[in-house]
Amino acid sequence: MSLLTVERLNVVFTTHQGKVKAVKNVSMTIPHQETLALIGETGCGKSVIAQSILRLLPSNAQINGRILFQGRDLLLVDEKTMASIRGKEIAIIFQNPSLALNPVYSIGWQVGEPFRIHQSANRNQSIQESVRLLSYMKLDKPESAVKMYPFEFSGGMNQRALIASALALHPNLIIADEPTQGLDRTLIKQIIEQLDRARKIHSSSMLLITHDLTVARSISDWIMVMYAGEIVEQVPTLDFFQSPMHPYSQGLLQSLPENGFHPIPGQSPSMIENLSGCQFHPRCQWAREQCRWERPGLLPINGRMVRCFLYD
Ligand code: SF4
Ligand code: MG
Repeated sequence: MSLLTVERLNVVFTTHQGKVKAVKNVSMTIPHQETLALIGETGCGKSVIAQSILRLLPSNAQINGRILFQGRDLLLVDEKTMASIRGKEIAIIFQNPSLALNPVYSIGWQVGEPFRIHQSANRNQSIQESVRLLSYMKLDKPESAVKMYPFEFSGGMNQRALIASALALHPNLIIADEPTQGLDRTLIKQIIEQLDRARKIHSSSMLLITHDLTVARSISDWIMVMYAGEIVEQVPTLDFFQSPMHPYSQGLLQSLPENGFHPIPGQSPSMIENLSGCQFHPRCQWAREQCRWERPGLLPINGRMVRCFLYD
């Protein structure tokens, strides 16, 4: 059973340079109590999917498709309903804690915000809840920590505070957009473990957006690979790391340090120009004539979906 289903999502931005097709016909499913990792290079449309689900896209975006969450299409509900879903039923952890936290408010005030917004808690109650959440996230001396300001916290502490706040009301879905960006390896491991533990305790599902394959491997059940706004492979995590099928997935794995760090040559196509054929063909060592002119569809193969003529 799925918690969230995205059907044929398209997002286009109107810019001075032209139309940017950021998300092209994306369909996906996030099952109950599982984690789906959305991976791919920066700028491939991953964050735009997160913003679409939460309806946080800027005004120059045109969106169509369906986003079904617990029986409702989030693209059709009114703004009041959406505001009650955001932060309560669907929580987001943004990629940059120093931008997500407001420098002029204390940590305790900000972590306790969901209780004030959604449960009419007063100031004291919300601070008490913050103390509880910070200790749950294993922050030292939570009673003093709530009185501190983001600049007095390290990057890792701020990220833990944000995770604590996001999980405050036991959301059914957690969207974590590059939650470990800019942190060092030891911290990444701790934060990811805490995030996963919290998800399991609350029986939530998670959409994890990351370009860090090590992070995706450690906590996801499913991997969805995006390239130039499209899904190119959707696969159980174990199978992805054992036998990636799409040439781009294979390239991503080859670029890991443990596999000799062979980066994929070339660059992703601009999202403005209309590249014909398979979007990966300029970088693909297997590209043949057909790949330059025809667009491959997403095909079901051995329990996964792959967009590539090699498996036609
Ligand atoms: Fe490579 Fe062709 Fe497959 Fe695209 S469709 S990934 S160009 S082999
Ligand atoms: Mg992003």
